[in-house]
Amino acid sequence: METDVIVLDSNDHGESDVILTLFARHEGRVRAIAKGGRKSLRRFVNKLEPFSFLHVVCRRKSPGALAFLAEAELHSAFFNIRNDLELYTVASVIQEFLLIAIKDEQPDERIFRLSLWSLHHLDQQHTPRAVLALFLIRFFEYLGYRPDLEHCGGCRRAVTATAQCHFHPEWGALVCTHCRSAVTVTTPLSPGAVKVLRVAQHLPLERLDRLRLSGPMLQEALTMLHQYGRNLFQRDIVSWRQLRRTPRPVAKPAASDDSARLQRNPAPTGALTIKEEHI
Ligand SMILES: [Zn+2]
Repeated sequence: METDVIVLDSNDHGESDVILTLFARHEGRVRAIAKGGRKSLRRFVNKLEPFSFLHVVCRRKSPGALAFLAEAELHSAFFNIRNDLELYTVASVIQEFLLIAIKDEQPDERIFRLSLWSLHHLDQQHTPRAVLALFLIRFFEYLGYRPDLEHCGGCRRAVTATAQCHFHPEWGALVCTHCRSAVTVTTPLSPGAVKVLRVAQHLPLERLDRLRLSGPMLQEALTMLHQYGRNLFQRDIVSWRQLRRTPRPVAKPAASDDSARLQRNPAPTGALTIKEEHI
């Protein structure tokens, strides 16, 4: 087996081996052992840590069996992620979702590319929590659970995002004003947040980094996506607790050309939500 992989998990095994959980482009989840991985620095240095993007040659007796890692060539180690607490914590949340969802022998090119996109943009130190929100909105869709941000999940009426909206984590959809009184657990989403997330669902992956999601809208989006994910997988997302405890860096002052960009792209509620980057 020769393929590109993202290292999702890495654990020492015995005196010198390393057991890896890999997300392989063409195979889905693969468990592999790097014999002598802790000692063979020449072959494996900087390659066996979580989030590394590698090209590997593995040998295994049958699909699903433990693979033996024969060779590993480093595409990217994403060093910045390993050296920054917030980047690392956000990457850990992405890692946890991938470990829950990726299955053996079930490759998913879209999720593989989305994962690489996320790691790359974290490493480039884009707003880390915005990268997480954009990852999750697309991740759920690629798994077949696209959040419905256009219709009410109760009555299927179209919901116009002109006033305060609510998302129902169990329905995976918005709740209209008619159905609102019949449900108890909802997550508030401002009209601006709904609009940004709708755009995030439609943009091609290569243009997703043009979206800027920040401030209260980012927090609303993350809360909604977290609750939806917990409900979808019926389990706690453990690394999210660490994310809550991780301080956010102080926002940088706006760049001098921000005002020009804002005028070209007025935000619907007055707060900055979407702005186009110069590419
Ligand atoms: Zn309704």
